[in-house]
Amino acid sequence: MNPIASIASITYPSRRSALDALRAAILGCERCPALVRCRSRVVPGHGAAPATVAFVGIAPGRFGGDRTGIPFSGDRSGDLLRRMIRNSAIRRVFITNLVRCNPRDDRGRNRDPSRREIANCRTHLLAELELVRPRIVVCLGRMAWRELAGRGAIFDPRRGSITIANGFRLYAMYHPGYVIRGAYSNRAYARDFRRLAALMGSN
Ligand code: URA
Repeated sequence: MNPIASIASITYPSRRSALDALRAAILGCERCPALVRCRSRVVPGHGAAPATVAFVGIAPGRFGGDRTGIPFSGDRSGDLLRRMIRNSAIRRVFITNLVRCNPRDDRGRNRDPSRREIANCRTHLLAELELVRPRIVVCLGRMAWRELAGRGAIFDPRRGSITIANGFRLYAMYHPGYVIRGAYSNRAYARDFRRLAALMGSN
C-alpha cells in the first residue's frame, strides 16, 4: 500500500499524532520533479481536526503558502477566504489544496498544476480528509470540484446544495481568486458563505 495512504489506516494514539505523521510524510514528498525544483517549501493542509468544513483550493500561491507554509495565508486569496470564514462564523475549519507545492512557469509566475501533479498529490489530499473527517468538503473552484466530484459533474456554486460523490459531501464555491479578479462580487461571495453556515447549522 502507498505509505501515505496507509497512514490513515494505522492506529495512532490520537488523530493529532496521525496528522503529524502524515504531515511529516508530505513534507518529504518528491513525487513531482518540476515542483521540487520550483517550490520554496511543501505546504500541507492546516487547521482543525476533527473539522466541520474542509476547504480545498488549487495550490499554494507564490506570495502566500510558498512563503508562509500555510495554505491560503499571506496573500490576497488567503485574506479574502479567511475573512469570509470569520464573518460567516463557521468554526473548526481545515484548509488544504489539490497540490502541496507552488507550481511556477518558466518565468517564475504561478501556474495551474498539471493533471499528473494533481494525481500525484491525490493520496495526500485523501489521507488528510480521512483524518480530519469534515462534515462538508468545500471545493473552491472548478478544478477542485472536478477532482473530487468527477469530471462529468457540473460546477454550479450558485445552487448552494450538497452533492454526494466518492464518499464526500461536497459543496461548490467560487475560488477567492475569481472574486479578486472581479468576476464575482464580494457581496455575493459573503452571501454564499452565510448560506454555507446556515447549511452547517441544519446538518
Ligand atoms: N493559496 C492557496 O493555498 N491555494 C489556492 O488555491 C490559492 C492561493
